[in-house]
Amino acid sequence: MSRFLAPDYEKLVPYTPGEQPKDRKYIKLNTNESPFPPSPKVREAVEGAIDTLNLYSDPTLSELTGAIGEALGVSAENVFCANGSDDVLAFAFMGFSGRGGELVAPDISYSFYPVFADLFGVKLTQIPLKDDFTVDVDAFCGINKNIVIANPNAPTGLWLGIDEIERIVASNPDTLVIIDEAYGDFAPASALPLVKKYDNLLVTCTFSKSRSLAGLRVGFGVANEEIIKDLNTFRCSFNPYNVNTLSIRAASAAIADKEYYDGCIAEVKAQREAATLRLREMGFAVQNSHSNFLFAKHESKAAKDVYEGLKARGVLVRYFNAPRIDGYVRISVGNKEQMDAFFQALAQVLS
Ligand code: PMP
Repeated sequence: MSRFLAPDYEKLVPYTPGEQPKDRKYIKLNTNESPFPPSPKVREAVEGAIDTLNLYSDPTLSELTGAIGEALGVSAENVFCANGSDDVLAFAFMGFSGRGGELVAPDISYSFYPVFADLFGVKLTQIPLKDDFTVDVDAFCGINKNIVIANPNAPTGLWLGIDEIERIVASNPDTLVIIDEAYGDFAPASALPLVKKYDNLLVTCTFSKSRSLAGLRVGFGVANEEIIKDLNTFRCSFNPYNVNTLSIRAASAAIADKEYYDGCIAEVKAQREAATLRLREMGFAVQNSHSNFLFAKHESKAAKDVYEGLKARGVLVRYFNAPRIDGYVRISVGNKEQMDAFFQALAQVLS
């Protein structure tokens, strides 16, 4: 820590991203990326934009909000875009809860939420998940506080039905409910249609998972027009160019190529179902995931040993050294080749 650091940030502990070791080639099943390349239309779009990089990107992001709006059947005025959905969440935490404000989340969820809360001086209250890791919906109803829930949740992969989400949103009409659907495309349904009915709902989505563009850094939020205007005020008070020209063009092309991505999503789901069964056969407890990763606990082998054994064999999964979840590993669903290599390494680790 330098001697210049403001006292407010002395205790800040940054988010720990999934590791990216460079010592050898790894099969990366630790950060829930897509195993598939982006749509071929993305390459065309990026190549066409290179010659315009002497100019600033469009701060209105109208091409991208328009393309997202068209794909989702909402107006562009209901769409906010930023540099990854982490950025959308950051602006929302900062602007709608704010210093000294409150926010409520499940105790086991995306580990960036407490970091953002600390950064922005937001008081984060965590409501424990039930013993089976499902969200205690009643505990979120009628609490009259801002709420954030990842659905499907991370790292559990469990999904809460949209009627339950609606119950939470409807029972807190005067506070903001953020539903983080980073993994929503792998789930049976989305809360997006509820945005037309409730003015206190913000659904956040990303291009990083189902659209194979984690390295591009584009995320978006869908909400009532007034919420979107506020988010744009925050964005343009910080960095109006936070989505660059290549990202605007690439993401606009990606969201229009539904056919390509529907195929990728279907393949991930097929691999997910096959891997769930296989893991159970190998002695893991695995609940049904509705995301692109599996959360699994072995009947006898410690999760840390599973993680380390796999890493030594060139396969990365995620292990969380945290209360309640330190018995589990989180495995991103890869393509068939990656999953075959994963299971081969896992069999060795368990033997
Ligand atoms: N929400 C959840 C639940 C996540 O797991 C992630 C990815 N780690 C994000 C949001 C942020 O994703 P991105 O910034 O890449 O859009």
